[in-house]
Amino acid sequence: MNNFEYYNPTKIVFGTDTYDQIPAKINEFTAGKRIMITYGGGSIKSNGIYDSVMKALKDYEVVEFSGIEANPEYDTLMKAVDQIKENPVDFVLAIGGGSVIDGTKFIVSAAKYDGNPWDVLTMKKGCKFEYAIPFGTVLTLPATGSEMNSGAVISNSRLKEKRTMGGPQGFPKFSFLDPTVVKTLPKKQIQNGIIDAYMHTLEQYLTYPSDNLLQERIAEGILSTLIEIGPEVLENPEDYKLASNLMWCATMALNGTLRAGVAYDWSTHMIGHELTALHGIDHARTLAIIAPNLYKVKLENKKEKLIQYGQRIFGLEGSCAEEAINRTRTFFESLGVKTSLSDYTKEHDETAVIIKKRFEERGWEGIGERKDLTPTEAKQIVEMSI
Ligand code: NAP
Ligand code: FE
Repeated sequence: MNNFEYYNPTKIVFGTDTYDQIPAKINEFTAGKRIMITYGGGSIKSNGIYDSVMKALKDYEVVEFSGIEANPEYDTLMKAVDQIKENPVDFVLAIGGGSVIDGTKFIVSAAKYDGNPWDVLTMKKGCKFEYAIPFGTVLTLPATGSEMNSGAVISNSRLKEKRTMGGPQGFPKFSFLDPTVVKTLPKKQIQNGIIDAYMHTLEQYLTYPSDNLLQERIAEGILSTLIEIGPEVLENPEDYKLASNLMWCATMALNGTLRAGVAYDWSTHMIGHELTALHGIDHARTLAIIAPNLYKVKLENKKEKLIQYGQRIFGLEGSCAEEAINRTRTFFESLGVKTSLSDYTKEHDETAVIIKKRFEERGWEGIGERKDLTPTEAKQIVEMSI
């Protein structure tokens, strides 16, 4: 097991009918009464979450910032940053999925940073932005784990870029996880949530060396649970048992637990982010497109772990690495998610070449846990995925 530090300060309030506890949780971090709520395109207004939260916040002066889009945009978020700089707030409450939460992480950091906000996003060397405004979340979509981690992914469509930022200021102070939100989700978002959580787990599991016995068993628990409940929760999103298990799987998949002492490999996410930046494909779907071919290209590196995965998760026997990859694709497709780039866009002629060039420009000469997935291999993986 590698040396590690483990720290997660986010308090989780899990269950139904809990939003009336939001003020008590805010009071733990500020006596101030001026709060900004951030949200997306309006789903929280049609499904009642907005009303429930506003009822809980009745004793606060609430300013609203709405319109944070899926794959949150730098330019949109900068409007909130400017708003806060002009009229400071004591606390920010994000109400939404990964996009609203990620966007809020950028907002609370950039609003307290005096330099160029782009430095915050690109995590420019020497850029210190730890004096963030405290923030919490009300999760409306189980998928990303952003509600209990310190990372954020922000897009700049002018530059066709999607960048990742992180740091201790990115942990929410608290997150409210009410599984009954699952029944309000479009099927497509439930599919996305299952796949994103699955891939977060896989990218911290299919790595070398294989000497983290406990973390492996926890990861296998999440993978097996998602396989067991995935198709069912799509059929019965109002089933509390299924919804609550999906929600906790998604949080556990990326809250630091699996990563303690583990060599992790974010290559599928890194290539996937480029597909979103170039073609606007949903985050989880980019992972479903890339992962099977990435594991084929890295078969020799990951063989031992792929065999363990195939045997323990799918009950396969013998040297089953390739069959384990096929079963992964079959699982995604059984959820109703297509796994080829051409299912999502016909304008893919240049995609592989552009991604190779970008990886080279960023100095990503070797990614993955062995730092050996080259830009040329990234190109090959995208070509195989068309
Ligand atoms: P999302 O982009 O936050 O939301 C997708 C859509 O779902 C939005 O259109 C939203 O509509 C709708 N929605 C959310 N909750 C709903 C509800 N309860 N009922 C009905 N509609 C609802 O989706 P996400 O998958 O959670 O987040 C994806 C983003 O997170 C990507 O940018 C990805 O790169 C990033 N990500 C972050 C991490 C991390 O650790 N920070 C990890 C993985 C991925 P409204 O806008 O109308 O609300
Ligand atoms: Fe993800």
